This record gives sequence, structure tokens and C-alpha cells, in this order.
Amino acid sequence: MDFEFSPEENAFREKVEQWLVENHDPVVMDPTRENFSQLADTPERRAFMRKLAAQGWLGMSWPKEYGGQEIEGVYEFILTEALARHAAPQIGKGVGIIGKTLIRHGSEKLKREFLPKILSAEIEFAVGYSEPQAGSDAANMQLKAEKVDGGWKLNGQKIWTTSAHFADWYWFGARTDPDKPKHDGISLFLLPMDAPGLEIQSMPTIGKDITNQVFFEDVFVADDYLVGERGRGFRYISEALDLERFTMFTLSPTQERTRLICEYVKTAERDGKPLREDPIVRQKIAHLITDTAVARGLSMRFLSAATTAGKPPTNESSQYKLFTTHLSQRTCDVALDIMGPAGQIRVDTEDAPLAGRFEGAYRATVVETIGGGASEIQKNIIARRKLGLPKNF
Ligand SMILES: Cc1cc2nc3c(=O)[nH]c(=O)nc-3n(C[C@H](O)[C@H](O)[C@H](O)COP(=O)(O)OP(=O)(O)OC[C@H]3O[C@@H](n4cnc5c(N)ncnc54)[C@H](O)[C@@H]3O)c2cc1C
Repeated sequence: MDFEFSPEENAFREKVEQWLVENHDPVVMDPTRENFSQLADTPERRAFMRKLAAQGWLGMSWPKEYGGQEIEGVYEFILTEALARHAAPQIGKGVGIIGKTLIRHGSEKLKREFLPKILSAEIEFAVGYSEPQAGSDAANMQLKAEKVDGGWKLNGQKIWTTSAHFADWYWFGARTDPDKPKHDGISLFLLPMDAPGLEIQSMPTIGKDITNQVFFEDVFVADDYLVGERGRGFRYISEALDLERFTMFTLSPTQERTRLICEYVKTAERDGKPLREDPIVRQKIAHLITDTAVARGLSMRFLSAATTAGKPPTNESSQYKLFTTHLSQRTCDVALDIMGPAGQIRVDTEDAPLAGRFEGAYRATVVETIGGGASEIQKNIIARRKLGLPKNF
């Protein structure tokens, strides 16, 4: 397997890089938000997404009949990693998850309504799977969808819905068939975020950003906005999660942090001695660089498996997410060890070494091993899907 990009892919990578340098805007690109920097949650960040659309960079791998270019997924990977490295909003949720799942499973009406808007960056989505009693056990979701004339009446609650406070549409699962086995009783829906009866309450996270609780009281969703078939929602959600675990947990911010700590070590001193001569520091950095190469290898395996299988690969996605998110946290841990007490000066404090980047990242990256399915769940998936071990829950 070839881990290097082809000359055409490298040319695209350079083109994107140059474009991002030319379009650098600190209002849009904030590396201290870490993983949350991918959200298009302000007018400026939404305008940036429209500029990406104008470049023809949204939906490159989609079929031509839905406005795509049918080129290999590696181009979207190159674009997403470049955007993440510059802390710019990313294409993950709309193009990478909801668009791709609609193309595979949505009705023609939903495709015609939503896909053009995703390609022109007109809409943003929030994703609602988790509920207070249904996080790791997502199939236990209880949001009630009762059949009524022309649609469904929704009552219940979601939690941890990132983006609900600014998104236009809600992509969520609800229980339509309570008498069926739990995995078969769930259906997937789309709903405008300003639907009557929907209430959003924001919660601050350990980093700079917020997530939300969403309450449904007699909310109506029309039949047309059921995604795919009734009762097959959990299968679609599982596929969407395989996409999420790859596209929304990028590696380049970790690579960038590793580069920063290497630069720091080259000139910093502790107790009058250059850090670059300290054998422990050198070993820690060598270890990080090696693990980063492993993570890149796992990302290439995902891309290769996705191309071969024609659908999001489950095991490769879980292995990538598990390894990369822990590496992301380890990078911060190692950097704070190396920097000593100065590393603890708060992000955005004047004179903090490396602008307090690692203090902020240390807190912000805590959520990476939880969101999109906790690490223990990724390990369970690998044990079952890769090793064929029995289910333990
Ligand atoms: C900042 C943030 C943003 C999020 N954004 C979204 C979002 O936009 N949309 C959305 O739907 N969800 C979102 N989530 C929710 C996230 O997916 C869940 O938090 C996650 O799936 C874990 O579920 P839980 O919190 O209910 O923990 P639990 O499921 O209660 O798990 C608690 C602990 O037990 C472990 N555990 C549970 N079951 C098992 C098992 N069978 N085997 C071994 N260990 C197990 C878990 O790994 C974890 O360590 C977000 C979460 C956070 C923190």
C-alpha cells in the first residue's frame, strides 16, 4: 500500500495550502478552539464556507448527479486536514456525514432539497443521537415519535447536541416502534431547528465552547422528513458514526502541536540548560512523532478500506479514532511536562509560552475521547468486528 500522495494529490494539497494562506483570517481561524474550530457558527465562518463552495471544494467525492465531481475521497481528506491545520471551519458534518448518508439512504425528495444547500454551504446541521440514558448505548434512545396524520409527534429529550444553538436543521433519531427490539425501533429524521415546541438549553464545556440539551414538546415532523425507511434509523446512524469518527477527528492539529513543541524545545532552557539536550525530552518528542506517523497510517487504511468497500468501514474508523484522539491528548500532556510550570499559564494570557496553546488544548482535547463514541466503545467495536470476540453488552 502506498502511503504517499500522488503528484496530482500533492498539487491539490499545495493549491489548498496556498489558498488558506491567502485567505487567512484570525476571526475565522482560531486554533485555541481546538476540535470545535471546525464549526461554522458565526456569520464570518459561514461566509468562509461559502468561499470554499465557490472553489468547488464541497462534495468533491459525491456522485455527479447530485452536484459532486466523483473524485476519490482522498481529496476531501486532504482538504479537511488542511482546514483543520489552519483551524478553519470544516466540511465534515454537512458534506461528510449527512450528505453522504442522504445519498445512500435518503428519498429523492430529501436529496433534491438538502444536497444543493449543503454544496452551496447554505445550511448547518446539529446531530442528536445522545440522550441522558443513551450515550454509549445509543440504541436505547427513547425520544418518542408517535404517528399522527401526515407525520409524527415528538416528545422527549436529547443531550450533548453540539451546534443546536446555531444550526438550521436537526438530524436525529427517535423511537417510532417501541414494541420492536431496541435496534429496530428507531427511525432517523430531519427537522428545522426553529420548529414549534423545540427548546434549546446551552451548557459550557471544559474547553472554550458549548454544547446543548434539546427538549421536544409535541413537536411535529412531516412524513417527508423521515430519512430512509422507518425502523432502520439505527443502521443509518451506525454508518454515519463510522463517517464521523474519521472526518470529525482530524490529525493535523496534533501534527501542528507536535511541530510547535519541537520548535519550543530547540530554543527553550530549564535551569540554565537547553531542553534540546535533555534525553528524556528528546525521547518523548521522538515517541510523539512516531505515533503521529502511525496515526497517519491508520487514516490511509480508512481511506483505502472506504474505497474498496464502497461504504464507511467500521473497524478502520474505530481504530483511527481511538488512536488519534488519545495521541491528541498525549501530545498536550507531554508538552505540559516539557514546559514545566510556565505551560500552565492560561490560554490567551499575554506572555504565556506558545500563547498558552497547550494549556487550552489540554482541557479542550478531553472531549475527543468521548464525543462520537467513547474510547471503550471503540475498543468493543474492534474486539467484535476485527477480532470476532463475543459481544459484552
Ligand atoms: C462535548 C461533547 C459534545 C458532544 N456532542 C454530541 C453531539 O453533537 N451529538 C450527540 O448525539 N452526542 C454528542 N456527544 C455525546 C457523546 O457521544 C456521549 O457523551 C458518548 O457517546 C458517551 O456517552 P455518555 O456520556 O452517556 O456516557 P456513558 O455511556 O454513560 O459512559 C460512561 C463511561 O462508561 C463507559 N462505558 C459505557 N458502556 C460501556 C461498555 N459497554 N463497555 C465498556 N465501557 C463502557 C464509557 O466508555 C464511559 O467511559 C457529545 C459529548 C460531549 C462531551
